[in-house]
Amino acid sequence: MRFLTYDRAGGARLGLLSGELVIDVAEASGGALPADMLSFIEAGAPALEAASRLPAAGGKPLADVRLLAPIPRPARNIVCVGLNYAEHASESRITTGLPEVPVYFTKPPSTVTGPEAAIPWHGELSRRMDWEVELVAVIGRPGKDIPEARALDYVFGYTVGNDVTARDLQARHQQWYKGKGLDGFCPLGPWIVTADEIPDPQTLRLQLRVNGRPKQDARTDDMIFSVAKLIADWSRGMTLEPGDLLMTGTPSGVGFARKPPEYLQPGDVVEAEIEAIGLLRNVVAGDERHP
Ligand code: ZN
Repeated sequence: MRFLTYDRAGGARLGLLSGELVIDVAEASGGALPADMLSFIEAGAPALEAASRLPAAGGKPLADVRLLAPIPRPARNIVCVGLNYAEHASESRITTGLPEVPVYFTKPPSTVTGPEAAIPWHGELSRRMDWEVELVAVIGRPGKDIPEARALDYVFGYTVGNDVTARDLQARHQQWYKGKGLDGFCPLGPWIVTADEIPDPQTLRLQLRVNGRPKQDARTDDMIFSVAKLIADWSRGMTLEPGDLLMTGTPSGVGFARKPPEYLQPGDVVEAEIEAIGLLRNVVAGDERHP
């Protein structure tokens, strides 16, 4: 199933995509199911089962709704993994060799923005805004010290993320929080595909285009640490909560490593796409061109 969050009269509402129709989950269930994604994820398997039986009658055409990020305001920082694809680790030249353990950093909830939303232009701070398409796992239930063999049972579903990064800030501040933490630097969407539809998340093609030109094109089987390995490692001594988001790293083809380097400019259209999930499209705010 595909669950999304959409704008209805200025409020964020949980929707279920049925073909090209968006069903309002709370309304179609007569109020039995929650109206927001986080509460729905927390409600667990019984809510999923009930949602699968909702009637499609009264659904709105997808083209007529404005999508928001599937979780517009995560309860905690988004957990991210750097250098999780071998070619990207080598193009980044930050370390020699491959990481032996996952390299973690986080993005604050205020980075999250939705499909079609403008990515803010922070030109006064950075002129090196870069893209990173990533598979995002959405945690479905609480867990700690989760064994790798059962790790995927803790995933509610998957979505597409763009780990937008100000490379000049990333380098200047050494730690990655600032350069990857500016407002609007985490487009997510267009929806969450439930985990039952993606039994093996290591088989997906992921791509990113800027103004229609291909920049990244790889497969998730190139990850150094699989989604299951990451969840097992991350949860050691740390309790994961429903609605936690894990960005699993980006493949090669980012802007700063290109020859010559390329960075996003106001007006650029960025399309991040993952097989079996969907296409996340955003435009960099403003129309002023910067050489
Ligand atoms: Zn990243």
